[in-house]
Amino acid sequence: MYASVGLQNTIDRSSIPVVGAEALAAFLDRVRGAFEVDVVLLVGRDERQPPPIVSGAHVSLDLVDLCRSVSGPGLRAVADLRAVARWRAHPAVAGAPGCRFVATHALGPGSGLLALVDRQPRRLTAAQRRRLADFAAAAECLVQVAGANASLGKALAHSRKIFDRASAAARIGVWECDLPAETLTWTDQVYAMFDLPPDTPLDRGRIVACYAPDSLEALVAARSRAIAERGGFTLDAEIVTVAGRRRWIRITAQVECEGTVPVRIFGMKQDITEEKLLADRTRYLAEFDTMTGLANRATFEAQLAALDQAPPGRRPYGALLLVDLDGFKPVNDTLGHAAGDACLVEVASRLRQSCRDGDLVARIGGDEFAILLAATAPGVAEDVASRLVAALNRPMTWAGRVFGIGASIGIVRIDGRPSADLFMAADAMLYAAKADGRGRFRVAAGAAPGGPRPATAA
Ligand code: GH3
Ligand code: MG
Repeated sequence: MYASVGLQNTIDRSSIPVVGAEALAAFLDRVRGAFEVDVVLLVGRDERQPPPIVSGAHVSLDLVDLCRSVSGPGLRAVADLRAVARWRAHPAVAGAPGCRFVATHALGPGSGLLALVDRQPRRLTAAQRRRLADFAAAAECLVQVAGANASLGKALAHSRKIFDRASAAARIGVWECDLPAETLTWTDQVYAMFDLPPDTPLDRGRIVACYAPDSLEALVAARSRAIAERGGFTLDAEIVTVAGRRRWIRITAQVECEGTVPVRIFGMKQDITEEKLLADRTRYLAEFDTMTGLANRATFEAQLAALDQAPPGRRPYGALLLVDLDGFKPVNDTLGHAAGDACLVEVASRLRQSCRDGDLVARIGGDEFAILLAATAPGVAEDVASRLVAALNRPMTWAGRVFGIGASIGIVRIDGRPSADLFMAADAMLYAAKADGRGRFRVAAGAAPGGPRPATAA
């Protein structure tokens, strides 16, 4: 053994960055045992190849150079290096560790060589020469496998890089929770979603506390069901990150079992905050009037049409009121369109204040509004209409200017007639209220024979 090599350019096995190097080194140990030599090396044909793999001791670059110098096609052996003028002065022979014997066998075209080294002169028998050739052939196979492993390692690292980039772009992270210990494991993307630095120790209690109450309730229920049924779930949940930011995440989960026992629940988390805000905004635009914040015409029409499907006694509304402002155009004409807009916003506010939560208040046109009143008791619609006429009669102020408008209202009781007929009846009453002098309401006659006669109020 070269126990005291002591050279600066010593190569250590632990630094060899080749996948499978341990297997190769174990193979070299066996070769060294078989030949009872001090050192066995697997050496690349030049410096551009991976560093040597060694059995026996640390090895110097001088020794590697010596082996390369001795090598040639097939087997080459020098029984006593000191006896040959060409090798006598070589640093690995003349100096420490004082090599006397080297035998090399090429692994294949350009694949390096297998080398035996000893500090004693040696002579290989014919059987040993055959054996060395066999070992060289085996070493070549192992080197190819190691090379394939290295390529595989590189391919895996490359795939990992692509996955990391894709998951960052899609804002998707992977999570896993061991059962029953409930130990969490996250990829960096999930840490980012919760505003936690990567590799922060994960305490499930602390993470669960980030969920908004409704989302936590839904998560607990979905998770318990998935574990009980050995299934999975998808859930959109709202969280408040440790930095205090509100975010929406889409959780997908799958339970994994060993036999029938659930041992893990894992899946993906995707940041869907922007998608969620966009969907909320789109839904808002589809259902609400952006200027006043009231329900829009589409929402009103949908609610009115739904009455056609509601069985008698189960109708959610008792009366329909159509409201059109009186003298609104002059506001635009005298104070400008901005004043008209502000007036509409104020009208919306007064209408809402005059109604209850269960009523639907909608803007269905320029200065036209519709109200579906939840109340069904006789006289309520008339009372509400009186309040509305009074409320909209009160003066308004815009940019220091005081001005006044009014309102006319047509009312119909919701009594089982088709919704289109109800709308036409209310519209006719609105027209009648305008024709009768504005600032009043009119109530349509009921559908049934002998129903109430049209009521009026100024
Ligand atoms: P009447 O008493 O007969 O109802 O007449 P009016 O002055 O209230 O005017 P009318 O109902 O015939 O017309 C409503 C006006 O509302 C016409 C239109 O220029 C205006 N308008 C419609 N939409 C808007 C809006 O979004 N903003 C503003 N400022 N004006 C609007
Ligand atoms: Mg009008």
